[in-house]
Amino acid sequence: MKTAIVWFKTDLRLYDNEALVKAIAQGEKVLPVYCFDDADFVTTRYGFKKTGNFRAQFLLESLQDLDANLRKIGSGLLILRGKPEVEIPKIVAEYKALKVFAKREVAYEEKETEAVVQTALFKLRCELETFSSSTLYHAEDLPFAIKDIPDVFTNFRKKTELDATVRAVFDSPLAMTSPDIPEMILPTLQDLGLEFSEIDARAAIQFKGGETAAMQRLNYYFYETKKLSVYKETRNGMVGEGYSSKFSAWLAMGCISPRTIYKEIRAYENENGANDSTYWLIFELLWRDFFRFMFKKYQTKFFLYAGIKGEKENSESLNNKLFSQWENGATPSDFINANMIELKQTGFMSNRGRQNVASYFCNELNMDWRLGAAYFESQLIDYDVCSNWGNWAYLAGVGNDPRKHRYFNIQKQANDYDKDRSFRDLWLQ
Ligand code: FAD
Repeated sequence: MKTAIVWFKTDLRLYDNEALVKAIAQGEKVLPVYCFDDADFVTTRYGFKKTGNFRAQFLLESLQDLDANLRKIGSGLLILRGKPEVEIPKIVAEYKALKVFAKREVAYEEKETEAVVQTALFKLRCELETFSSSTLYHAEDLPFAIKDIPDVFTNFRKKTELDATVRAVFDSPLAMTSPDIPEMILPTLQDLGLEFSEIDARAAIQFKGGETAAMQRLNYYFYETKKLSVYKETRNGMVGEGYSSKFSAWLAMGCISPRTIYKEIRAYENENGANDSTYWLIFELLWRDFFRFMFKKYQTKFFLYAGIKGEKENSESLNNKLFSQWENGATPSDFINANMIELKQTGFMSNRGRQNVASYFCNELNMDWRLGAAYFESQLIDYDVCSNWGNWAYLAGVGNDPRKHRYFNIQKQANDYDKDRSFRDLWLQ
């Protein structure tokens, strides 16, 4: 095959990137492209930008790093902008490419885009080959057919851990042959209809996009500080970079793969010993997998008010005043407020915080949970379609929670997890 195209999406890395490795194996020349999809920058039906300032900035940094890393091995990144089903075929025609290699999508809109691109390429006699590369366990290695995956996480986890193995990672390519790729010119945030928002200095972590920063964070969290060894005890914390891995933003943009993290956990365990904490990070990555596989199973249902259970009557209840108080951290609860201010100023919130503000939104404010999820979608630097909508549906009681009516007692949670008020003092000063 003469020219193969690698269409990068949320897999902005060289290490453990199956689409890239396969393209290099099959193409005489390989052209890496990234397409800024107009659909990612619209205002959604819920009134929020689909991609907010923090995540867009993180994306631009990740692309810069990817381009730099590709140039080191003789290639580079070509930036496109528009509709992928229009722009990718244009490039295919220009370079007479016979095949496009890409990551396989799981969520509804992303799959739709994949399908229209495939149809457009078919007309050019060009094949779109996709690879399931964003989960820890490969979909084909699961001990169940997708339709039979248990809806209860523990049942999914136990059988998967017992009967499936994690595949080996793909090494980074050392060299590539590419057509001449002009110097990368990225759109600015303004071009994307956004603006620069500085991450507040009080942030738990100053995220920087890219595979390089992801590997630095892994090295720091595992080897320099050995915080992995105490992860299980600290993971419910709320202040500072050290209480949890903070891998989420890099995982969401695909700057690092869960298999890479898994491989490094095993290497770390060999050097420093395994314990409950080292295992628990794998456990959390399984939650991430679980939601992805649930999306494969239930497709659009996670975006419906009644979720996958289909029992709740449809309602689109919205109270603008209550919503604004929640969004801006002006509710009667100081614990909720501190978390929502953190999200607004940094694009990040701890897992403990997310559970509480989502439960508060659903149970105290009694609003359509999808509005809260849509705000998160816009605001989170680590937004991931399956993790976000899956967790929101779970907390709204229309997802995978086997317990009916889970309810967080916010005051008790504040007492348990912010006893000395250091989190609230940080954000409410
Ligand atoms: P760690 O505790 O270090 O966990 C390691 C990794 O495991 C995370 O990076 C993440 O990839 C995965 N993980 C951990 N907990 C979960 C979980 N409950 N569900 C799925 N994966 C998990 N995570 C996202 O990455 N993107 C989202 O858009 C997102 N939205 C959420 C919305 C709500 C309402 C809730 C309750 C949780 C959401 N999460 C989301 C999951 C979780 O809160 C974050 O992954 C975590 O806080 C990120 O911090 P960390 O990387 O330090 O996590």
